[in-house]
Amino acid sequence: MTELAVTPLTLDGATGEGGGQILRTGLALSMVTGRPLHITRIRAGRPKPGLMRQHLACVQAAVAVCGGQAEGAELNSQTLVFTPGVVRAGDYRFQIATAGSCLLVLQTVLPALMLADAPSKVELMGGTHNPMAPPFDFLERAFAPLVRRLGVGLELELKRRGFFPAGGGELVARITPTASTQQPLVPVDVLTRGPLQSAWGEALTPGISRGVAVRELQTLGQRMGWTQESGQLRQPPTRQNEGPGNALIATLEHAHITEVFCQLGERSLSAEQVAKRLVDEVRAYQRSAGALGLHLADQWMLPLALAVWRSGQAASYTCSEVTQHTATNAQTIALGLPVRVQITPAERAMHVEIAPA
Ligand code: ATP
Repeated sequence: MTELAVTPLTLDGATGEGGGQILRTGLALSMVTGRPLHITRIRAGRPKPGLMRQHLACVQAAVAVCGGQAEGAELNSQTLVFTPGVVRAGDYRFQIATAGSCLLVLQTVLPALMLADAPSKVELMGGTHNPMAPPFDFLERAFAPLVRRLGVGLELELKRRGFFPAGGGELVARITPTASTQQPLVPVDVLTRGPLQSAWGEALTPGISRGVAVRELQTLGQRMGWTQESGQLRQPPTRQNEGPGNALIATLEHAHITEVFCQLGERSLSAEQVAKRLVDEVRAYQRSAGALGLHLADQWMLPLALAVWRSGQAASYTCSEVTQHTATNAQTIALGLPVRVQITPAERAMHVEIAPA
């Protein structure tokens, strides 16, 4: 592992897509390296720039996990100076105001806790199915199994779903770092999906008419060739106090990777339109040969880069697409860690290699 001189990590929040990911990745990098973070022009690329409640929740969680200090941690602030302390494993409970995404807060603190010296339990309350954020099901079935392949324990438990805008969801993440199991943190290559083993869709409609689920599943089934009889069209039971909300989710289990796609229902969209959007997303993935879909491709980059940094070994993955979000994340990671991220086109896919700098 290359030691980093503790020079500040200076990030321009207007880089690339200029979104909230620069902040979340910056906080995570600062916590794992001990480098103070100075970020300006936060979310300059968004219609309402600066820190929103969702982003403040991420800053506050980072402060709690490492006993850090944050200047400029205020609503609408476009500058933040974050001075990390020492990361402390332990039990944390974060309540995210309004319906902020629990998963984006977890995304911020997971890198630090997966490199800590003892296990942690993180309880999160807020949104579990939010627009522009990973839904719980994606983290549980697609992201967490990849993290476990690095040697890190990551178990997720959903207590209650929380949909935007009401929130009210709750989940628990149990993180067992490699240091506490004496296992090495090993980077893994994920270059191919492997054969498709199973595929199914599920409609979540807590607090709203079950007719919506029926119509969504009917459209999904017709277009994907999935049937109720084969167990490929599901309506999971609703838990107490969930909703109102609607998510239509498709899961593709391949031998080497599981991908999860999700569309949230909106008032202005018919059930059929929600299903068509989901099918378009699944079809785009299926047309490509990349192992990871577009969201997994941006979220996998940081955990993998940490494993590359700690082990000194390079690793690669292929993905269906490199979004501006992923490209911006690559730039941020390369500023924060002594790694090089190289993105090149491959056959019907993109190839991402992370190597020690
Ligand atoms: P903002 O600046 O408004 O806060 P952002 O840059 O933080 O926006 P996005 O670019 O929309 O937000 O992405 C947030 C994260 O949520 C990304 O890691 C993205 O991959 C993830 N994400 C969004 N939608 C999905 C989805 N359907 N499935 C999985 N992950 C998703």
